[in-house]
Amino acid sequence: MSINLCVWSSQRPPLNPLVGGQQENTMKVSDASPTRSPTNTTQQTICKRHNPENSGVVESENAPFLLHNKRQRTKSGSESVESLAACQDSAIPPADCCVKGEPTPLCERNVRTRLDGQDINTQSTEPSCSCTKWDSNSDNLSSLVTGDSMRSDSNRECKKNSETDLTEESLLTGVFPSHRLISNGNGSGGLSPHCAATLEYVTQLPEGCSGGGSKALVLHSSDLNGSCEPNEELEDDDNYLDSSEEEEEEDELTLTNNEDEESCGEDDQSVISCVTVGSTSSLHSVASEILNTICINEHGVAANEDGSLLYTETPAPSPLPSLSPSLFSHVPPSINFCQYNEKTVEFPLVIGRLLKWRFTNITPLIVRKTVSNSGFRITKKTLQWCGTWGKHMKSPCFKAVREFQKINHFPGTFQIGRKDKLWKNFVRLQIKFGKEEFGFIPKTFVLPGDMKAFKAAFEKEGVKKKWIVKPPASARGAGIQVVHKWSQVPTDSPVVVQRYISRPYLINDTKFDIRIYVLVTSFHPLRIYLYQDGLVRFASVQYNNASTSLSDRYMHLTNYSVNKSSSSYTHNVDAGQCQGHKWTIKSLWGYLKTRGVDTSALWSRIADLVIKTVVSGEHDIVVRTRKNVRSRYSCQELFGFDVIIDERLRPWLLEVNISPSLHSASPLDHSVKGPLIANLLNMVAFHIPDKLSQQQQMNLLGDFNFDERVSGLCLDRRLYTRLLTPEEQLKHVQVNAMPRSQYLDFAIETLTSDDVRHLLTAEDELQRAGKFTRIFPTAETHPYFGFLEKPRYYNRLMDAWENAYATCREKAIERLESLCAEKFHLRVPPTFKMPKTAILPPTGEVLPTDSVLPTDSSQPSVPAS
Ligand code: ADP
Repeated sequence: MSINLCVWSSQRPPLNPLVGGQQENTMKVSDASPTRSPTNTTQQTICKRHNPENSGVVESENAPFLLHNKRQRTKSGSESVESLAACQDSAIPPADCCVKGEPTPLCERNVRTRLDGQDINTQSTEPSCSCTKWDSNSDNLSSLVTGDSMRSDSNRECKKNSETDLTEESLLTGVFPSHRLISNGNGSGGLSPHCAATLEYVTQLPEGCSGGGSKALVLHSSDLNGSCEPNEELEDDDNYLDSSEEEEEEDELTLTNNEDEESCGEDDQSVISCVTVGSTSSLHSVASEILNTICINEHGVAANEDGSLLYTETPAPSPLPSLSPSLFSHVPPSINFCQYNEKTVEFPLVIGRLLKWRFTNITPLIVRKTVSNSGFRITKKTLQWCGTWGKHMKSPCFKAVREFQKINHFPGTFQIGRKDKLWKNFVRLQIKFGKEEFGFIPKTFVLPGDMKAFKAAFEKEGVKKKWIVKPPASARGAGIQVVHKWSQVPTDSPVVVQRYISRPYLINDTKFDIRIYVLVTSFHPLRIYLYQDGLVRFASVQYNNASTSLSDRYMHLTNYSVNKSSSSYTHNVDAGQCQGHKWTIKSLWGYLKTRGVDTSALWSRIADLVIKTVVSGEHDIVVRTRKNVRSRYSCQELFGFDVIIDERLRPWLLEVNISPSLHSASPLDHSVKGPLIANLLNMVAFHIPDKLSQQQQMNLLGDFNFDERVSGLCLDRRLYTRLLTPEEQLKHVQVNAMPRSQYLDFAIETLTSDDVRHLLTAEDELQRAGKFTRIFPTAETHPYFGFLEKPRYYNRLMDAWENAYATCREKAIERLESLCAEKFHLRVPPTFKMPKTAILPPTGEVLPTDSVLPTDSSQPSVPAS
């Protein structure tokens, strides 16, 4: 591989998102006047759903031909073999996993792909989920009829239950006996008279897939002030395990045993006991970790220790309307999420009753406040939820996520979220591309497997070198120690041993690390965003490199969980100030600039590290997503990257958290995480579920003052389908076979309907990015393609798009809009069928017959414009 991305030289890919065409939402630091030169920084069983007889299903991954016949295990070993336990939970009826009435297209194993009359029998060696039931009224995907969805474009000028709400008091008190039932201010918990659509499907995440409890429960907005939360607030930085749930304990066990590949985020695990809150006594601590910082009062309101409220009881009105239109015609509007301490205008009841958020015990309070103040009702074990924020799940569990539901994970992200997997993926690329490119994780050994190599390295380095020993899938500093003698290295348990960065950049002689928030909204195409702000966590004891101090965790570890119990730990009461043991990244940049540090360059370097890390797990995640996720609508993931900077201002990646803590225990936490979560939810575009009749949508449209371009209010599943016409498939194959010089033009010369759907999603998302900066793709990020295991069509499409339009977004939007105005983006293969529960928006036609043009098997069809 001859890709040469010099990591820190002028040749490295410029990652300034402004170059890539994003508007001014980047943290641009250009006024650094280095007094300190930065030059030193140059530096099982087959599921019965998966009927092999299914034929003709075509989905849009770039290589339906290439991928299906290949690998089902990653190079690193057994990680692809997933336990089926979660889906086979005997307590959960199969319908939970195999949703009643759902088609089978998301499972690509055993699917025959028919192209040009030829069957390509695809195979898989992976075990499948054990789902056995599904309803016969599923979508018929058994045949693929040729349909035209190609479109030439002349505008290219710019080259550059019925869910029954289970509100019974008995149920509620049965779950949390000490909690009173708070009545639902919105009226009955039963079915609304406005229930025009039949809610036919039953959807729950399987128990092992959820992170939630086991009893059905509906919480109402008023409950969000906490009175029904058994496991309320937790500290920043920390995971917890609801010890009341065996499932969680099992996870902890498997993590400890290094056998489970899934749970490894801060919010996915941990060991805080269940604490009762919200009873009638005054203030209760809700987590031992944060005893001194946050409490829940008798009204269930999160409060500071002194009783002052963390959240005002009456949130300020949000300046945002409740819905925002898309940039494009005939694309439904998205729901606006306000800040946790604001409240949006109430939705009409007929909409409001559809907006349900699935509660899990690990949903952070700030997320609950944000979604409830934005019009969602939070319910536990609801059947028709729109969104959820929970722990990571085993890959097959993603099959239970419906097309109108969004979840905060992708399958397989443990590939970067576990320390051992992260290293395995990283080292694979390091071997291939060298330390120049992949040198940003300190040298690591995964024991006991790497024991011999580690011993050799240890002996070579001598006792002067320090190492840090960590559990492979833990967090919060648990089980970590810094060592320099062989006798200190555990030889009998699975651990990760890493070269210790013994000369960190110090501020006030103290070591710190940085929590970077990274959002991935899609893995194919890969879209990565970097949040402008984050947290800087300081050790509570001044740093000393002497071997004699290695046992001082307050000096060598920067976790808040560790340092908060230090007598010298001080809180930062003003988020804008560089004080105390936690800062915002914004403050850090301000501080560093005054010392002549080129923070802009540092940030670019961090962006580079982020992209390469995500890329290292990309292949497995794409494959698992394609196999287990029904809709492009359903997944997004927020990652917490922990980075330490050494004295030469070189950033080192310490770990990636797949469930970074959003628990907020201080005004500083709120100032970072509150906007972060609202920004994120707005970016990923939640739509009103497609449960309203055309008439209802028409009636309601007038309430929102949209212009005529908005023709429907509800989710339109066609926008997120992965079905492709043969012409579209052909284009994928052609583009993937081309060198960049060719595909830059070809990929966007003639857009297919599927292309338009992808591009408009990306444009809308970019427009809502707020404080997130898109770092991939930009017009400059194509060199990263070299690190991917294989070319991917949508990455190339995006590359061509950015190459043409990064510097003139209006042209890009104009071009797409001219197609959307004609509903070109809504042309889907005739095999696409709306489920009965999904009611088309008033605009809806599914590929009207007169728009089907003859197929030319050699060239993409070009319909008359
Ligand atoms: P955890 O997931 O338990 O937080 P980390 O890998 O983040 O584990 O390590 C915890 C802390 O230990 C970090 O915040 C950092 O302060 C310190 N640390 C971890 N790895 C290194 C390293 N290689 N060199 C120096 N310090 C480290």
